[in-house]
Amino acid sequence: MKITDVKVIVTCPGRNYVLVKVLTDVPGLYGVGEGTLNGSEPIVAEALRHLTPLLIGRDPQRIEDTWQVLYRQGYWRGGPIFMAALAAIDMALWDIKGKQAGLPVYQLLGGRARDGVLVYRHGIGRDPIEVEDSVRSFLEQGYKVVRAQIGDYGGAGVIGQLPPLSPGTPPTKVFEPAPYLLGTPKLFAHLRETLGMEVELLHDAHEQLDPIAAVRLAKDLEPFRLFFLEDPLMPEHRESWPLLRQASATPLAIGEIFTGRWDCLPLFQNRWIDFIRIKPLHVGGITEARKIMTLAEPYNVRSAFHGAADVGPIAQSASVSLQCVIPNFGVQEWTLYSEATHEVMPGALKVVDGYALPNEAPGLGIDIDEAAAAKYPYQRAYMPQVRRADGTAHVY
Ligand code: MG
Repeated sequence: MKITDVKVIVTCPGRNYVLVKVLTDVPGLYGVGEGTLNGSEPIVAEALRHLTPLLIGRDPQRIEDTWQVLYRQGYWRGGPIFMAALAAIDMALWDIKGKQAGLPVYQLLGGRARDGVLVYRHGIGRDPIEVEDSVRSFLEQGYKVVRAQIGDYGGAGVIGQLPPLSPGTPPTKVFEPAPYLLGTPKLFAHLRETLGMEVELLHDAHEQLDPIAAVRLAKDLEPFRLFFLEDPLMPEHRESWPLLRQASATPLAIGEIFTGRWDCLPLFQNRWIDFIRIKPLHVGGITEARKIMTLAEPYNVRSAFHGAADVGPIAQSASVSLQCVIPNFGVQEWTLYSEATHEVMPGALKVVDGYALPNEAPGLGIDIDEAAAAKYPYQRAYMPQVRRADGTAHVY
């Protein structure tokens, strides 16, 4: 069997997605994959077009070998652009293998280790009472775990917003740590008082804090028994993990912008974290994500795969396929897709009573409707920008 071409499709059915179809010389047999990288979609698409000649003529059944060839091909290994592109190809090869075998990908990976993949949704509001209402509505829908935030980003620390510098660019949010550090424990005090201690709640600190401020937050949130505190530190502040780890019993999670096993391993080996937020989409696909979760297992680190809206249905299918198989599963972040997204990618996974279920169709069980995708062309979009009150540029 040979790869004959790679079709790269960038579409915007509500938000941008980078999709591929890897075509083979077997009539009707192709694989679908996803390489969406929020705000950088055209660059990943160009990387995929650049890699395509290296794939044509190659046997799509040789997944590991193809992964190694693409990973090593450029001399400049890794990074988010090439690892997202590699992920798209890797997912498509697993999809082809599943279709060839007549089995869903999770069966190829070893079969179910659980009935469903526990997911969490985002409880959001402008104040603690609105957040409480939002959390309650998810609990009523059967969800078991909810992330609680004031605002969609930056929480109580967002004190203003500046208009875009020019049309088609994002506004700038103004963030200050003091209101965030004071407001977030108050939010959780309210939620625990009104919802009780048993509900599983988590919080995303979004890399906004200096290490010692992160220590303060983890300690202040400790009485509220978080499922985990996400991104309390920037990945660049790796040497500050021991400080944070020893300060409290708040479980810690990071990894949504990690691109491979080498980002993860020191955190595992030093037992600095409890949950790893990688997902196949940004670490080079199912092949690498599986290795990372095997590396995590002896250190008692569980998965909490990133699943914000920019992780599309094909990537989520890959995430769920892997997480219903691994022993060290924790939770999966979940968002719902637009009607148009379902039209472009028929077969998106469903959640029943708070658990995502893998597709039973062969491969990843999702297709790409190219005619539908063409109705929703790429719309230029950038990630938001953040500044401090004095105008200093800050991390998003
Ligand atoms: Mg996050």
